[in-house]
Amino acid sequence: MENSELWQSVLAQMQLHISKANFATWFQNTSIVSKESEKIIISVPNAFSKEWLSNKYYKLMLKTMRDIDHTIKELEFTINPQSLKKNIIDRKTETENEKIDIEQLKFDEFKVNRETNLNPRYTFENFVVGSFNDLAYAASLAVSESPGQAYNPLFIYGGVGLGKTHLMQAIGNKITNDSKKKKVKYTTSEKLVSSIISAIRSNTMESFKASLAPIDVLIVDDVQFISGKIKTQEEFFHVFNSLYEKNKQIILSSDRPPNAIPELEERLRSRFEGGMIADVNLPDYETRLVILKTKLQEKNLKLPEDVLEYIASNVKKNIRELEGALNSLLIYCKVNNTPTVEITKKLLKGFVFSPFDIANYKKIIETVAKFYNLEEKNLFDQTRRKEIVKPRQIAMYLLRKELKYSFPTIARKFGGKDHTTVIYAYKKILKESEENNKLTEELSLIKQRIYSG
Ligand code: ADP
Ligand code: MG
Repeated sequence: MENSELWQSVLAQMQLHISKANFATWFQNTSIVSKESEKIIISVPNAFSKEWLSNKYYKLMLKTMRDIDHTIKELEFTINPQSLKKNIIDRKTETENEKIDIEQLKFDEFKVNRETNLNPRYTFENFVVGSFNDLAYAASLAVSESPGQAYNPLFIYGGVGLGKTHLMQAIGNKITNDSKKKKVKYTTSEKLVSSIISAIRSNTMESFKASLAPIDVLIVDDVQFISGKIKTQEEFFHVFNSLYEKNKQIILSSDRPPNAIPELEERLRSRFEGGMIADVNLPDYETRLVILKTKLQEKNLKLPEDVLEYIASNVKKNIRELEGALNSLLIYCKVNNTPTVEITKKLLKGFVFSPFDIANYKKIIETVAKFYNLEEKNLFDQTRRKEIVKPRQIAMYLLRKELKYSFPTIARKFGGKDHTTVIYAYKKILKESEENNKLTEELSLIKQRIYSG
């Protein structure tokens, strides 16, 4: 196997494990320079990234490579500042750019347009639609056809890896392709928050706003991170209004609907709810199979039907994992031959979970606390404050419902409360979830997270 292919498989694996921002930071301008008997030499652009990669990602990288090539025993990093220079090239020199892409990276992350932050690989054409996402798809298509007029804002929500970024980027790509005049800007809410904070600090809020004024379509991904950031929310509210008043399209995504984002200013929440809210869900088995086949077709590759069926019935966490599983198999195919179901089982161990492997006490406490923006210890506070009582009752409910803990056990975990308190909490949440849509939805989002690693 070529070094560049081996490296590509490492990159593909890494992308599954770390955020996009991290990925771009640590893996941009890296490559394999050589293989010396059992050692792989990896070139990195600076000492900082050498240290970071060798401390944080060494094991995972080695494991990924060893899965493909057992003879590899060790990795070594070498600093090559040239690798950085070589890649900072004028974007206008397309052909040169492409050459480097092919010879070294071949990797989507780096094809992102620096002005719009759009990645051309996300399109409507390669987005599989089913009952799990058809509303979000239809709304996105409508918005892309008449930005600023169909639904404003468009708010897409759902768990990780279910296609939110893909859809929003597809809207952006379609709009820029249809009309070169339209200015689209995609940003994550983390980036937006940090721009706003630094504008506030340096007293340049006005020029920051002015820089956004020419934008026709503003896309803000993962807007839930704005939760609790009061000052930023205030400024974002103004940015939102000034675009909205001029009929500029705003598209937002989040891991949950606006009414479930904690510590979100009321007026911002009502803005978020003012247009169309659409969710993306988990695809069912049939759709997972279709997604796998679509991805294979795109790459012009084939895998046996029983292997595809095995993947579709076992990799259920989300679409990103499904893609990751498929890519692992394809890399295996390149080096060896077509895998059998037996081999597939082995290769995909890391992707296949049974619910019992994942839901546990720690996970439930952690997830509930995080969902409600609390510290874990807050759940155990002896307080009647509403912001704490409800999450605590939900945690108790889930321990009972998902893990079948006994009521006295749960009572012990919560500081020796009377177990009738736990029974009360359980019944209350059970009853309310049957009557109250918002709670049902929150529970389902929390469960999704508990069971998704
Ligand atoms: P999210 O933003 O919801 O976390 P992404 O949009 O990043 O999820 O999707 C994760 C991966 O799955 C991406 O590579 C994306 O292209 C792919 N994907 C998600 N939904 C679909 C779909 N309906 N059809 C095809 N690919 C999809
Ligand atoms: Mg996303």
